Amino acid sequence: LSDRLSGILDKLTKRGALSEADVSEAMREVRRALIEADVALPVVRSFTDKVRNRAVGHEVLKSITPGQQVVKIVHDQLVEMLGSEAKPIDLDAPAPVCIMMVGLQGSGKTTTTAKIARRLATRDKLKVLMASLDTRRPAAQEQLKVLGEQNEIETLPIIAGQSPVQIANRAMTAARLGGFDVVVLDTAGRTHIDEPLMVEMAEIRQSANPHEILLVADALTGQDAVNLATAFDERVGITGIVLTRMDGDGRGGAALSMRAVTGKPIKLIGTGEKADALEDFHPSRIADRILGMGDIVSLVEKAAREIDAEKAAKMAAKLKKGSFDLEDLAEQLKQMEKLGGMSGIMGMMPGVGKMKKQMDAAGIDDRVIKRQVAIIQSMTPAERRKPDILKASRKKRIAAGSGVDVAAVNRLLKMHRQMADMMKQMGQGKGLFGKLMGGM
Ligand code: GDP
Ligand code: MG
Repeated sequence: LSDRLSGILDKLTKRGALSEADVSEAMREVRRALIEADVALPVVRSFTDKVRNRAVGHEVLKSITPGQQVVKIVHDQLVEMLGSEAKPIDLDAPAPVCIMMVGLQGSGKTTTTAKIARRLATRDKLKVLMASLDTRRPAAQEQLKVLGEQNEIETLPIIAGQSPVQIANRAMTAARLGGFDVVVLDTAGRTHIDEPLMVEMAEIRQSANPHEILLVADALTGQDAVNLATAFDERVGITGIVLTRMDGDGRGGAALSMRAVTGKPIKLIGTGEKADALEDFHPSRIADRILGMGDIVSLVEKAAREIDAEKAAKMAAKLKKGSFDLEDLAEQLKQMEKLGGMSGIMGMMPGVGKMKKQMDAAGIDDRVIKRQVAIIQSMTPAERRKPDILKASRKKRIAAGSGVDVAAVNRLLKMHRQMADMMKQMGQGKGLFGKLMGGM
């Protein structure tokens, strides 16, 4: 998306309130990004409508462009739709509290059962029993047993020939008698949603009366996510969602789709095959991932906080004219320092690796920013405005005044020349970085 994002920024350079046209244009890009992230179409539509309502007429912060503002609004709306804050597993019920895991085959139910049990046992010091109700796949019950042994979690002894409901009943009885706090029921899946699966899940629910029913879904699930979540929610009634394989390439669009159609919170995410690869769900991180935009939002927030809007406007005007003197350079360097130095800025922006190399080549580096400002401060105002008058004797004086050698002064002047050229190009609106610099 970063290319698209700079596309949006390039197109929206006007300041003031966001117009309908500005927002519509940006929404087309956002729509494409969401579809690419596998968010279901109806969800994309309702999402972009919400953003449009929120964005049109929105007052634009002085120091950032309307495009950046739209990105921020999109991000905030995503977070809101994803559920704003992390919701932990709810264990507020008489022991033994039953957690039932449901989902398609291969979604990660068994793995997640062990992860959750392990987390509750080690972190919360609870006594946890796991039971596999998967009577369909031959080795499914053994798989859970092995995971139990590896993680020192008790599993219900396997008795051949029992139905899923019989196993569930036996698990609940064993937990009651054994003084367990929590029972996690792992169930069988199918390769796709079918009637027998739904009937089986509903029966298990009836007899075990779980306090939590967690739908386990692969983060790579695309447009199917809506059907999947709707079916399980309507037929079985889920209380939350666990998104697995967030360590993979999936953009996480399934999270938004499933949350939007069921209104049920995403509680946890799986980030690997190992038993400790389980994390709380952070909407903001998933929103970033869906937008694929690194930490652009933090950058916008930081810029809005730190940058002096009036100076920024003057600087932008100068850049457009192509007159960038040493005063301006000193000002830029100070602004960069405020923003956490060059690598701080670059690190927050996607797709600027090439630019960073150029800046490195030009000698801009966090460690030298302070020294460069000192060199410029040792110059007279006339010298700062017209660096051309700096001949050998003046350079010597400046070097002595700022505690560096003449070579360092020459490097600064060379960097200024290169930067002035670069700025001229950027000031003409080339790319995201140009917009950012224009905004400084
Ligand atoms: P089930 O059929 O729903 O019980 O799925 P399993 O728990 O047996 O998992 C299927 C495969 O997915 C196994 O190879 C797991 O190791 C793998 N898996 C489960 N969760 C994750 C995850 O969060 N990340 C990755 N990379 N693999 C996972
Ligand atoms: Mg399984």
